[in-house]
Amino acid sequence: MDLADASDKHSSVLARAALQATNYLRVIQERHAGVRISGDGLRQMLGPRPFPENGENPERIVDELAGAGLLGTSASQGPRYFGFVTGGSLPVATAADWLVSAWDQNAQTYVMSPIASVVEDIAAGWLKDVLQLPTAWSVGFVTGAQMANFTSLIVARHHVLRNAGWDVERDGLFGAPPIGVLVSEESHRTIFTALRMVGLGDGRVGRIETDGQGRMRPDRLAQALEKATGPCIVCTQVGNVNTGAADPLSEIAPVVRSRGAWLHVDGAFGMWAAASASLRHLVAGVEQADSVATDAHKWLNVPYDSGIVFTAHPESHQRALVVPAHYIQATEGERDPRTFTPDESRRARGIAVYAALRALGRRGVEELVERCCSHARRMADALRPHPQVRILNDVALNQVLVQFVPLNDDARDEAAFTEAVVAGIQADGTCWLGATLWHARRAARISICNWSTTERDIDRSAAAILSVVDRLS
Ligand SMILES: *Cc1c(COP(=O)(O)O)cnc(C)c1O
Repeated sequence: MDLADASDKHSSVLARAALQATNYLRVIQERHAGVRISGDGLRQMLGPRPFPENGENPERIVDELAGAGLLGTSASQGPRYFGFVTGGSLPVATAADWLVSAWDQNAQTYVMSPIASVVEDIAAGWLKDVLQLPTAWSVGFVTGAQMANFTSLIVARHHVLRNAGWDVERDGLFGAPPIGVLVSEESHRTIFTALRMVGLGDGRVGRIETDGQGRMRPDRLAQALEKATGPCIVCTQVGNVNTGAADPLSEIAPVVRSRGAWLHVDGAFGMWAAASASLRHLVAGVEQADSVATDAHKWLNVPYDSGIVFTAHPESHQRALVVPAHYIQATEGERDPRTFTPDESRRARGIAVYAALRALGRRGVEELVERCCSHARRMADALRPHPQVRILNDVALNQVLVQFVPLNDDARDEAAFTEAVVAGIQADGTCWLGATLWHARRAARISICNWSTTERDIDRSAAAILSVVDRLS
């Protein structure tokens, strides 16, 4: 194959993908917000089976994938998908991510990809700026908040054991001083996965009681810290996955510091409150943390997969992760992305973050965050007057927690009625939201973090939700 041939091959199949992708993004604006095809239906569309003996035409493969994607995707790129905590992707971020695939760089070292390294370095600086974190902190680009929590705890483990005179990188945890771990009763489950993965276990941890909004109680934490001996790690969160509430870090941080413990903050989406002058107070004190995990694929609206780990201890960050190798070539003064993450080879995911931040600017990020929160309040205000609706949380951020009550007002039926309403909303398809269990109550969870959602989308969705409630009553 000569070069002209190779670039022709690229241009026709990439043009096809661009056409299909732009068509998809148009259709998704009005399509049913959920998925109405079964796994078997998709398998039929995506034949051939068994595995074909001979290769097939690339354009045809792209077309068939695109056809299946029209049916087999959640409309999370659309403006009325409120399930889990799911961002969309800004057009510039999607486009930048296409370049990343076209370049196909191995983003592990500067030598392998100067552009990946330099752009990541710029994006790291901008992230600390927009989230108001200290400039000296280290930054790593990982796949999501799960990996950011994991990486934070690897660094925490190194740091607290080193202070106790133990070299965990060399000697592992066998015979190490036991590390006390305190988490919130409502820590996200990824904290527990991360604790498992770093060898700290998820069953031996202390769970600190929370208040009526799901925030860790500082008085209870102080009591637990008094009892804890030896090296210690405390896991807090800003952005409770149900209520959106933030643990009171300005009260928590001094207590954790005076005990010499490591303070980790899971801020997968809640950390973005820091980008807004009017919401920043919710995360006050985060700059006193030792590590922070967040996502870019949620509220910053870049494509999956994109999470970020920040630490206040750059040396510990690298010492915990880097195993020297003679064939790795470091470049003086340049960033080697692999030294901040558990990954070795990986995609240049910092580039979509750079593009999103540059396209929005400080004002744009602030507006995006504030707009989503104002949409959440608008949604709550539209639902609240209905006699069969109870809003369970203070809508302080982008999450709305709703309980639906049957007309007979029988408490035993509330869970079943709420589940029926959620199923009805999912079937209707104007918008999509899921159910959760919170403080022993079944509730619907509405999360708003898509850049393209408008007030009209909120009003349409609220009307659709209430009409399901009326229909089922
Ligand atoms: C979403 C979320 C996570 C997990 O993030 P991923 O990006 O899915 O890995 C962790 N913690 C909180 C609070 C979250 O909302």
